Amino acid sequence: MKKAFIIFSAIIFSFQCTHKKDTMKTETKSKPEINPILTDWDTPFGTAPFDKIKSEDYLPAIESGMKEHDLEIKNIVNNKDKPTFSNTIIAFETSGKLLKRASLLFDAVESANTNDVLKATSKKIRPELSSHYDKIKMNKKLFERIDKIYKQKDKLGLSSEDKKLLEETYKIFIRSGINLADKKQERLKKINKRLSELSQQFGDNLLEETNNFELHVTNKNDLGEMPDNFIEAAAIESKKRGHKTGWSFTLQRPSIYPFLDYSTNRNLREKIYKGYTNRANNGNKFDNKKVLEEMVTLRIEKAHILGYDTYSDFILSDNMAQTPDKVYKLLMKVWKPALKTAKYDRELLVKMMKEDGISDKFRASDWRYYVRQIRSKKYSFNEDQTRPYFEVNAVRNGAFTLANKLFGLTFKERKDIAIWHKDQEVFEVLDDTGKHVGIIYMDFFARPSKKGGAWMNELRMQSNIDKFITPIVTNNFNFPAPTKNNPSLLSFSQAQTVFHEFGHGLHGLLSNVKYASLSGTNVPRDFVEFPSQVIENWMSEPQVLKLYAKHYKTGEVIPSEMVKKMNAANGFDVGFRTVEYLAASFLDMDWHSLYEAPKEKTIEFENSSMKKIGLIDEIIPRYRSTYFAHIFSGGYSAGYYSYLWSEILDADAFEAFKETGDVLNPEVAKRYKKLISSGGTKSGMELYKEFRGREPKIEALLKRKGFKY
Ligand SMILES: [Zn+2]
Repeated sequence: MKKAFIIFSAIIFSFQCTHKKDTMKTETKSKPEINPILTDWDTPFGTAPFDKIKSEDYLPAIESGMKEHDLEIKNIVNNKDKPTFSNTIIAFETSGKLLKRASLLFDAVESANTNDVLKATSKKIRPELSSHYDKIKMNKKLFERIDKIYKQKDKLGLSSEDKKLLEETYKIFIRSGINLADKKQERLKKINKRLSELSQQFGDNLLEETNNFELHVTNKNDLGEMPDNFIEAAAIESKKRGHKTGWSFTLQRPSIYPFLDYSTNRNLREKIYKGYTNRANNGNKFDNKKVLEEMVTLRIEKAHILGYDTYSDFILSDNMAQTPDKVYKLLMKVWKPALKTAKYDRELLVKMMKEDGISDKFRASDWRYYVRQIRSKKYSFNEDQTRPYFEVNAVRNGAFTLANKLFGLTFKERKDIAIWHKDQEVFEVLDDTGKHVGIIYMDFFARPSKKGGAWMNELRMQSNIDKFITPIVTNNFNFPAPTKNNPSLLSFSQAQTVFHEFGHGLHGLLSNVKYASLSGTNVPRDFVEFPSQVIENWMSEPQVLKLYAKHYKTGEVIPSEMVKKMNAANGFDVGFRTVEYLAASFLDMDWHSLYEAPKEKTIEFENSSMKKIGLIDEIIPRYRSTYFAHIFSGGYSAGYYSYLWSEILDADAFEAFKETGDVLNPEVAKRYKKLISSGGTKSGMELYKEFRGREPKIEALLKRKGFKY
């Protein structure tokens, strides 16, 4: 997942800024407390001094940033000179530096290591930021200048990147309702503010509900054949939660998944599964049903004000997919074979359960347990055989080695760069000539202060207006932390996640454009998952596995026989994985393709949405509505389909390497590097066609999925 920005882009972020006003002000006071976010940073590569920044510093820094931004906008508007590309478009692009700096830092820290102060700051500041940007995006005098330039865009002799910046800037205003009557604008501002409050509340509720649940097990027999490292982690969790003995399991994935995979106690499996699937749906103060119902209703109203029938029409018109109809058609194309495959697999699982002597109805909470059984019995494969080859540091080094083979990058650990949590590691990225490229922070382990899932953030975007500003990015995961006796050993899919987020990281790091708002991952949402997903292809290629998948004790490379078995066994559950993903994508589209507010309440709506596509009882959408953070607090509304859209591109792009007989082919790698270095300076389709010589085809994806039907 690529973390969505709360900021509307088009503002450059660089560290050249000196906040003279504040430093001067503080000189006159006795014992001044200088906010470290607002000062110049004398740090390696201008990295943020996280060792000096306190949680309390973010709020005043963001507030100062907004004030400064307001002034800068005022200066553009009041400029007596005729509007030009430079005094208006570039001035707008480079305004709000300080705000951008503070917001990017805050976003990263708040999602990865929150606390009460940061939570309160977020609650206060997000609606204020929403209003701040609305005020700018609906500033008619500012738009008048932009519009004048836009009208002569073909006569100004602009470069293609300048032109793209102009078009994107213009579009921000149009899509924000600049041409609406005042009354409608006022209503839109209110809606946006409320939506940002609700989105914040949705995320906070979800984190609470995830952290509050505990399954405490006292009988070791219930753990079945669970590997020692998980048992040890559960024992530590149990102590942490105040128990003298036993094992505690939580709703965080590194904890619940092993339990569902291994526990022989069906009722306990059902209990934790219900805990997970009913998050924020328990009728308590952290319930998200009313929150999301209000969001859906407000989004419909917003779409209507902006002249669209539905919210998905509004969102998709700015993406590669263009229309809801196109998205539904794509989802359906994959849905049918995926569902058939999942149904076929279900029969195998039911049979396996019967062989276990259980004649009950097969439950959703039985699925993972019997998948593991089948993998182990039919494919003689057990994830525990491969885990020792995917120790977290080995996987990270594998990702680095891949970037070296493809793009000539090297990674040097830096201990002199400040971090915001002790688990973080920082690396300087260098190119093949030893030139500094950027910085990447990596943070692998789960903790209660971190949001779930995995994502990438940008702390500083690449740009090159007056001078080249290098990018700074982060990768965040929720893997089990190493314990005294066990290193952090990853499952295959966790290892894949490392490569995925690293792919987003590379998209940011390799960026080589002029304007920050067109750099790195600032691309349409249904294009942004392409550079991350394409990197996943390499991690299981024998040629690449040899480079990194080495046993943490013996250093032995993963045996090719095991890789064959692993790939066959992983292929087994592709129906389930695709179905749960697609079900969530349909649910997202259904919530956002309404012309009027739904009469049904959340759960009924969800049930009828799933019934419509014929989802089977034993599978639920990957995210149910009350914990679908991607669409209600993560910027992927009417956009969860993006992963599939990007998958078409990534499967087809990887074929380009395979067709040469060398998955690391340097010529293709060079063309691919050009594509990801281009950020959003061209449309996704243009960039793709330059790389591939044609439009993407879906065949490579369907072949890779290997559906049985
Ligand atoms: Zn992603």
